Amino acid sequence: MSEHHPFRDASYLLSVHTPRQLPTDDGLEVAISGRSNAGKSSAINRICEQNALARTSKTPGRTQQLVYFQLAASRYLVDLPGYGYAKVPPELRDHWRGLIEGYFQSRRALAGLVVVMDIRHPLREYDLQMLGFAEARGLPAHVLLTKADKLGREAQAKTLRQVRSELSDRQTAQLFSAPSGIGVDEARRRLAGWLQLRMPASPGAEGQ
Ligand code: GDP
Repeated sequence: MSEHHPFRDASYLLSVHTPRQLPTDDGLEVAISGRSNAGKSSAINRICEQNALARTSKTPGRTQQLVYFQLAASRYLVDLPGYGYAKVPPELRDHWRGLIEGYFQSRRALAGLVVVMDIRHPLREYDLQMLGFAEARGLPAHVLLTKADKLGREAQAKTLRQVRSELSDRQTAQLFSAPSGIGVDEARRRLAGWLQLRMPASPGAEGQ
């Protein structure tokens, strides 16, 4: 029951507003993005088994920062800012785009991107933009189709197939649900692989 996995050790490290504040670029990190309300904070909290690691409540100021969580020495999860609701002033959007684009272009530690999508509204413009940033750099990306508990099994499988059919060779997708735990182990294994962190063997884990 109490198997130890590295995500349990996650702790808040710092919030980055400008590239100068980034931690030394000598480790491995996975960036996690998602439209506002997609379920990103809930996914991070569930993966790390911590109720309040990523904030599930939104404040506008947080849309412009990258939040670093440390898992081990030089191993990080990076909560990327989404630009949330539709009414974002153009200058804020430009700043956001510059920050994220620069991060994707120059961050050597970046090993992969997770895009969290509400399974009922996958592959929206923001999601495609994030996947595009990763693709431009040749980085692998993994889609969490979260809130899978909101759909029946058939609809889950159908959406998963559809989304997979639209992804590139470097991109993968899975079902996920924070409250029900669907796909949590699978997500941890994907992230641990990118971060070169060891996971405990678990019964039934095929390590895909
Ligand atoms: P964020 O804005 O992407 O960080 O989204 P949150 O994690 O704050 O979640 C937005 C809303 O969706 C909250 O009311 C959550 O309780 C709910 N939610 C998040 N994940 C799931 C899930 O897997 N299943 C269900 N049913 N609700 C979820």
